[in-house]
Amino acid sequence: MKVALLTLFPDLVRQTLTMGVVGRALERGQLQLHCFNPRDYTTDNYRTVDDRPFGGGPGMVMLIEPLMRALGAARSVLPDARVVSMSPQGRRFDQALAIEYSTRAEIIFVCGRYEGIDQRFVDTQVDEEVSLGDFVTSGGELPALTMIDAATRLMPGVLHTDQSALEDSFMDGVLDCPHYTRPPQHPLGDVPPILLSGNHAEIARWRRQQSLGATWLRRPDLLAKLTLNKRDQTLLDAFIAAHRDKNGVQ
Ligand code: SAH
Repeated sequence: MKVALLTLFPDLVRQTLTMGVVGRALERGQLQLHCFNPRDYTTDNYRTVDDRPFGGGPGMVMLIEPLMRALGAARSVLPDARVVSMSPQGRRFDQALAIEYSTRAEIIFVCGRYEGIDQRFVDTQVDEEVSLGDFVTSGGELPALTMIDAATRLMPGVLHTDQSALEDSFMDGVLDCPHYTRPPQHPLGDVPPILLSGNHAEIARWRRQQSLGATWLRRPDLLAKLTLNKRDQTLLDAFIAAHRDKNGVQ
């Protein structure tokens, strides 16, 4: 995947992406990163990238021209890229979109700052607006980095085992099961004995049940979208019965 970011903070972007799994993907060339700073495409002595909003009010708005030139430079490197603008008003990013991005060859992310970007640039140059969630960050960089991270780790060969991404939360519509490591006994509690049993079929069953149970408890909205097969329904029914027993619910 080749990504370009239009950003006033290229150092923030580059430094963040050098770390961990994504850093390794960059080193191996599985992810290619290009940053274009609108400030480098200004023509005045002050290198101005923003101006006051028409109609008054607080804050500043990003100017069209530096963005247009930065976008032109990005397009010359990534000619087939879709242009994705970071915006709290956009489509909400989720695992389905992360999967989609992980299969795209080229993406240009536009990172806003201040009050945002001149709407004419958004209306004419942007293919899709995407939001990280229903909150406002001070710039589009952290949202874009989050999306790039989520997409990169899904690309084949990026994680140590591709299987591990498949078992993550949301991949099949349910939350992940709990995980434990050594020591098996600890003052904070014991590891569920089934995980120490070596019975792989039983362990897989337990994990599936925990996933379904966690989704039922925490994200009924996700569960409502699923049609459970008979085996899953039985596992969940048993989880619910045990949960109600433990909590004294009829
Ligand atoms: N005035 C705007 C927010 C501007 S915040 C509004 O209320 O809608 C500055 C920039 O941060 C935005 O242009 C956008 O690029 C980025 N940003 C803020 N919150 C975001 C979110 N939830 N998802 C994606 N980008 C966001």
